[in-house]
Amino acid sequence: MLSERLIEIYELLFERFGAQHWWPGETEFEIIVGAILTQNTNWDNVEKAIGNLKSANLLSPERLHNTKVLELAELIRPAGYFNIKAKRLKNFLDWLFDNYDGDLGELEAVDTEQLREELLSVKGIGRETADSILLYALNRGVFVVDAYTARVAFRHMLIEPDADYERLRELFESNLPEDVQLFNEYHALLVRVGKEFCKPKARCTGCPLEELPRTVDIEDF
Ligand code: SF4
Repeated sequence: MLSERLIEIYELLFERFGAQHWWPGETEFEIIVGAILTQNTNWDNVEKAIGNLKSANLLSPERLHNTKVLELAELIRPAGYFNIKAKRLKNFLDWLFDNYDGDLGELEAVDTEQLREELLSVKGIGRETADSILLYALNRGVFVVDAYTARVAFRHMLIEPDADYERLRELFESNLPEDVQLFNEYHALLVRVGKEFCKPKARCTGCPLEELPRTVDIEDF
C-alpha cells in the first residue's frame, strides 16, 4: 500500500534526522520572501539577503512595496539573480496590494486552490515557490515537491519515472492525511536525505531508506 510505504519512509527519515524546524523565518512575510529568494541558490545566501533587508528595516509588505526595484535588487544581491528576484518580489507585492490591500491576513479567507491559482499567476512564481508559500507561510495542507522529492519517489518506485510536479504532489497529498505539520516535516526530511544520501549518484549505504525496495538507475535528477 502506497500510504503505508509513504508513512514508513517518513518514520525512517524522522527517526534518523529528527525534526528539521522548517521554515526558518520570524514572520509569515519573511518566510514568503525566503521562498522567493531561495530559487537557484543555497540558504546561506538567502539569509544574507534577508539580513540586508532587516538591517534596512524593509522587511514588511508595505515598506518593501514602496522600495524602488533597483534598491531592492542591491539589497538582495547575495541571493544571486538579484535583478530577476527583485522583480519577482515586486510582482508578488503588486499582487498582494492590488488584490488584498497588502494585508497577508486577508489571505486567510481565501480557499487554498484559489490562492494557489492566484500565486501561480504571479510572474516568476512557480509551483514549488507557490506551494512553499502556501505550506510554510500560510499553513495550508499542500505538499511541496522538488527535485529531491522526485528522486526519492522515482528511486523507490512510488510513481512512474516521468511523473510531473502535479502527479508527485498528488501522490503525497492523496496518500497521506492532510496534516500541515506532517507535510512541513516530510518535505524538509526529503530535502535532508536528498542532500546527504540521495544525490544524483545515490549513496544508499547507510541511508535511512536503504532497506526499502528501490532502483538507483535514475541518475538524471
Ligand atoms: S540514497 Fe538510496 S536508499 Fe537513500 S533515498 Fe536514495 S535511493 Fe533510497
